[in-house]
Amino acid sequence: MAILSVVQYPNKVLMTRASEITEITDVERRLAMDMIETMYAEKGVGLAANQVGVLKQMFVASADQVLGNELVFFNPVIVKKQGLIKEFEGCLSIPELHEPVKRAKRVVLRAMNLKGETVEVKASGLLSRIFQHETDHLNGILFVDRLGPLKSRKAKKRLLARSKAVR
Ligand code: ZN
Repeated sequence: MAILSVVQYPNKVLMTRASEITEITDVERRLAMDMIETMYAEKGVGLAANQVGVLKQMFVASADQVLGNELVFFNPVIVKKQGLIKEFEGCLSIPELHEPVKRAKRVVLRAMNLKGETVEVKASGLLSRIFQHETDHLNGILFVDRLGPLKSRKAKKRLLARSKAVR
């Protein structure tokens, strides 16, 4: 296993939609293991493949941070949404930003698991938020895009100014 480097905003790979996976091979299985290790190393609760520079529809998640309880999903789609809840959110690719984001309270995620089976998973609480955040990533959408037009524009401006200052 290996810890991968997490791509930072405003890298274009974060704004690009990832491609569907047709078959799960050793390459995807190894990448999933590396992504899990990276997620824990970075103290995250979820990680999408484009955050490690790979444009494939896959993400890993661990809402409870219990080793061995990680979820790995391919080609995820949110098929049901219920309710609304606004809570603080962050992202390993935008570490300096924490803002409240409005999300569905409960969702149903349809995806392929590591065995290649299509599954539907109901989620609420943190897991529901992770599912929505990571599925967004794979569609090239970041949580900073979900703050409402004015707040979103302001936050992006601030982030861009900071990323230029670092360079
Ligand atoms: Zn993120």
